[in-house]
Amino acid sequence: MQDLIRQLLAELGEDPTREGLLNTPKRVEKALKFLTGGYDANIDEVLNGALFTVDYSEMVIVKDIDFYSLCEHHLLPFFGKCHVAYIPTNKVIGLSKIPRLVDVFSRRLQVQERLTNQIADVVRDAVKPMGVAVVMEATHLCMSMRGVEKQNSFAVTSAMHGAFRDNARTRMEFLELIKLRSAVPGIRESAGYACVGDE
Ligand SMILES: [Zn+2]
Repeated sequence: MQDLIRQLLAELGEDPTREGLLNTPKRVEKALKFLTGGYDANIDEVLNGALFTVDYSEMVIVKDIDFYSLCEHHLLPFFGKCHVAYIPTNKVIGLSKIPRLVDVFSRRLQVQERLTNQIADVVRDAVKPMGVAVVMEATHLCMSMRGVEKQNSFAVTSAMHGAFRDNARTRMEFLELIKLRSAVPGIRESAGYACVGDE
């Protein structure tokens, strides 16, 4: 990877041998490996021992989870907050595991819509709840830094399954609890517009 990064620096018009850039290929490789470390993660291992049988059927919400990802179209960061909710049937997942799952899927090359769906799907498949909902709000540097469609550089995406899809009151309760009231009328399955069809 370091040779490629030296080549990239030269293509950008830089001198990869100048002092400030000498260790850059090594640093970039290390950073990229960390930022895409989600490919190596094993979901079963992450979830291992974190599922508990309980008699609890109220909504569980973990909100304001910070996440950082890289858009697959430009390899530039997008980042923001993720909110995850589910209604257990007889199983819950350790609360600290939810941010860990968000990290696993964020540390890959992503589009926000797929990232949102992947988090919802893994909770649905692991916990088998009555419903699961994921909302992600993010700023995309590929839009804000390049000055295109600045008004859309903040994107909201959602994935709703089960009770959150079928029951408007459940969905509203969740959206109110994560304080997205202003976005309620517009929020829908895959309501994102980040990066789509963009050069
Ligand atoms: Zn992008």
